Amino acid sequence: MPHTALPFDALRPRLPSPLQEVDDERWARHGVRLLLKRDDLIHPDLPGNKWRKLRLNLQAAADAGHDTLLTFGGAYSNHLRATAAAGRHFGFSTIGVVRGEEHLPLNESLAAAAADGMRLTYLDRTTYRRKTSPEVVGGLRERFGRFYLIPEGGSNALAARGCAALGEELRGAADVVAVACGTGGTLAGLAAGLAPGQRAVGFAVLKGGAFLAGDVERLQREAFGARAGDWELEDRFHFGGYARRTPELDAFAGDFGARHQVVPDRVYVAKMLAGLLALTEEGRFARGTALAAVVTG
Ligand SMILES: *Cc1c(COP(=O)(O)O)cnc(C)c1O
Repeated sequence: MPHTALPFDALRPRLPSPLQEVDDERWARHGVRLLLKRDDLIHPDLPGNKWRKLRLNLQAAADAGHDTLLTFGGAYSNHLRATAAAGRHFGFSTIGVVRGEEHLPLNESLAAAAADGMRLTYLDRTTYRRKTSPEVVGGLRERFGRFYLIPEGGSNALAARGCAALGEELRGAADVVAVACGTGGTLAGLAAGLAPGQRAVGFAVLKGGAFLAGDVERLQREAFGARAGDWELEDRFHFGGYARRTPELDAFAGDFGARHQVVPDRVYVAKMLAGLLALTEEGRFARGTALAAVVTG
């Protein structure tokens, strides 16, 4: 039974998100234009791809009569935080299943989620790895009752379909679109939404990110029935692994912020931009190419 549409518009999301050209000689000297797709400006509580990934899931949860959302993430997960904020805005209870042990006081990310009413629970790393198994999910259902389950990072078929709008907004605006990848749901949708002739490049922020290509393909099959769009995955720019940083990455991010008044998030966006510059310097893009870099958060 479809319920009424959730009041997304009441939050006044900035959609389509702004597209801004930046003047940067490091790209210009290769004859390449750089544009920033400012998904970080969509909404202060649900920035970037989190808005796009959650929207259809929240509606599906409401349509199925759920009042509780349960999802998974690491201790610094933007997704947990965004899910908590979405719950507050749209009237869902939220449960966040966090990888590892509890550390008090809560870090800024988990404290914000808790302040939005998210109930936090913890799974040791071994159990967390099996979080999609029937035993672990069954255990959570026994403890918490009925809930709408959103997978880690929010990536499922509905999330990918929500992210297709990102690609659609970029039709005609760029030849190549770059995006940072955690779980790959954003890349899966983005690539499907682009027009023929446009290409998406995903930059894995995790070490060993090559497995992500399989996840992106699976998400596309679930969301669109088949592999969709022209996309590839770069796995050379993780800078040591998830949430790891190097002095080189910090310097790059600080410098980019000083040049363009957009301070790139170091877990995701800075790695993508640094990777995009490296590909540009390797001569990967023909002169005249317009690159759009998605500022996902
Ligand atoms: C969550 C997040 C991502 C990763 O998106 P996936 O769909 O999991 O690949 C990228 N950038 C930012 C800023 C994020 O918060």
